[in-house]
Amino acid sequence: MTDLPARRLLLVHAHPDDESINNGATMARYAAEGALVTLVTCTLGEEGEIIPPALAHLAADRDDALGPYRSGELAAAMKELGVTDHRFLGGPGRYRDSGMMGAEQNRRPGAFWSADLDEAAGHLVDVIREVRPQVLVTYDPDGGYGHPDHIQAHRVATRAAELAADAAYRPGSGAPHTVAKVYWNRVPRPVAEEGFAALRAEAPDAFPGIAEIGDVPGVVDDDRITTVIDGTGYGEAKTAAMRAHATQIAVQGAYFALSNDLGQPVFTTEYYELVSGTPGAPAGERERDLFAGVPGADR
Ligand SMILES: [Zn+2]
Repeated sequence: MTDLPARRLLLVHAHPDDESINNGATMARYAAEGALVTLVTCTLGEEGEIIPPALAHLAADRDDALGPYRSGELAAAMKELGVTDHRFLGGPGRYRDSGMMGAEQNRRPGAFWSADLDEAAGHLVDVIREVRPQVLVTYDPDGGYGHPDHIQAHRVATRAAELAADAAYRPGSGAPHTVAKVYWNRVPRPVAEEGFAALRAEAPDAFPGIAEIGDVPGVVDDDRITTVIDGTGYGEAKTAAMRAHATQIAVQGAYFALSNDLGQPVFTTEYYELVSGTPGAPAGERERDLFAGVPGADR
């Protein structure tokens, strides 16, 4: 354990592509700065809708071959971000994409939504006790926008952080570890509003339609934001990573669309809400570093 880098960041996401959309600039920046950035993706995203017509045959209701394909897209995206440690929860294919809320796939055996919480969290405890992250990033309890796999990713990440710290939990599976700070992915409402205004002004025809602020996961009022990560220098890495998820994302300049063809802004400054741990900024100020105030990792 002594050869671990001084700063260690763990991100837990539901599907390949969520990490690049939410945290691409943050991941690229910390990786470039020498931190250990570990991504755990909970499913292969087998139920995703596919943008390129030539790949439509991969869909769950046709060849059902999207999972392995998206695993390749994720590997390519991580190369763009400079992230070398990316894993699937319990190994690739252990948990399957549950589809949208209410879909019949939610209840399928193996679907992440029907996973046993402690069993799924146990896989993540192994990762936490191995890489010993000071910082954990995941979604809010609503998963940012209500997708069952995103809600479950939140629950698993939260439970795993608890269990990893508990010396009585599986004592043989590595020394207990307490994550110093837990963050939820956020977008401040004014930033989202500005982004959509810019899209309407600069590139109204980039996509067949324009999304609504309500389509952006994790949007909250300004006062909830505790932490700002300036990733402007990593904007190209972020959009390159998003392009690597070509079955799911179409990128046009500073904007992108999912399979619904509705344009959204790409945010290169990324925002977070600290929900556990001691803030590393004076009261009333925002942190500029996820590791702020963490002993041995603060700069
Ligand atoms: Zn997702």
